[in-house]
Amino acid sequence: MCCVTQELSLSSKQLRSMVRQALADLRHQAEEAAGAVEELRFRYRREVQEWNSQNNELPDLQGNIKVFCRCRGFSAGKSCLDAASEQELLVHGKGSMKKFLFDKVYPSSTSQEEIFEGALPIITSCVSGYRVCILAYGQSGSGKTYTMTGTKDKPGVNIRSIRELLHVCKGKENYTFNLKISMLEIYNDTLYDLLSVNPNNPLEIRSQGRSISVPGLTHVEVKTEEDILNAMDMVDKNRKIGSTNTESSRSHLLLTLTLEGRDSASGGSSSGTLTLCDLAGPKHFSKTEATGQSRVEAAAINKSLTSLRQVFSALKSNALHVPFRNSKLTHLLQPCLSGDAKCLVLVNVNPDGKHMVETLSTLQFGSALRQIALGKTAQHISPTKNKADKQH
Ligand code: ADP
Ligand code: MG
Repeated sequence: MCCVTQELSLSSKQLRSMVRQALADLRHQAEEAAGAVEELRFRYRREVQEWNSQNNELPDLQGNIKVFCRCRGFSAGKSCLDAASEQELLVHGKGSMKKFLFDKVYPSSTSQEEIFEGALPIITSCVSGYRVCILAYGQSGSGKTYTMTGTKDKPGVNIRSIRELLHVCKGKENYTFNLKISMLEIYNDTLYDLLSVNPNNPLEIRSQGRSISVPGLTHVEVKTEEDILNAMDMVDKNRKIGSTNTESSRSHLLLTLTLEGRDSASGGSSSGTLTLCDLAGPKHFSKTEATGQSRVEAAAINKSLTSLRQVFSALKSNALHVPFRNSKLTHLLQPCLSGDAKCLVLVNVNPDGKHMVETLSTLQFGSALRQIALGKTAQHISPTKNKADKQH
């Protein structure tokens, strides 16, 4: 009996040690697999970036505003939206059906990662010295803030872009980069610096020729993931209306990433910017029955969105005068919407049939933006210093 017990105890020990070994092996394999996936992802992004820089050299005949349409996640009831193909969105109404065309249509099942991958060529072109911007447009509750900011577990375009740019900067040989971010909120047609220690002080726009600046705006250098999180925490504290609250649609939010690059071998430099804008949704008075302060807010939002529509419409018709100065929003976006910039508009729509009127109006606006030409895109690169220059 004693012998049997001893044997059992021994084999149980062996078994435990085998299981432990097997678990350790499994963990090791999982770590290796995760590393390989990360490596593949990085290589894929490199490829995209290379493709992008080659592609940038081609004349952009298609116009430099691209428009993607994202259908919000939806679980309650039947969706009125149907992504019929990669570029076609069908809207089913009572006995009617309308079709809208976009550069890309993303169905409700689309993940944050997929949206980001779609926007990646635009995002990384700021590394090559381009001025680019991404605007999230759509009615309140359609998923703009989810797309741009996202949640802690499912971060949106903003955080992913900063991470990506940091990653790309580290991976480029012979290049030193300096990445800075700034964050502005436009509330009641007034600018507030969300990275400032005095976030309630309004700021003004200064224009000199074609360049626009905001004197006093804080620019924070980011080098690590921790710097990003610290900056985002500060933004959350400083916002007029909490970013996690759907009421955040009462202000426009502009995150600007400035990337200065220097080629240590040749001395050449580049300067690119990426502006990521989460627009407030248009307000409908009959729906909100807004009074007092919220009516003032709603009027300011509608006025700035009308200005944005007028700017796009002037660009579309190649008008001599584009009314950028009609609102703070369009004035700030001027460098991103003129001449040599590239722009991606992310149109967000709610698949709930209850919002059909607003959805149709958003889709009409968004699909009409396709193929607008801003001008010929240009890289902001200073030539390599030659020997003569260096002597001065
Ligand atoms: P908006 O900024 O356009 O007013 P939000 O981004 O705040 O809209 O979205 C409204 C709600 O819907 C939020 O609770 C958000 O988390 C959720 N939501 C939006 N888009 C998605 C999505 N694609 N998948 C899952 N939830 C989403
Ligand atoms: Mg929002």
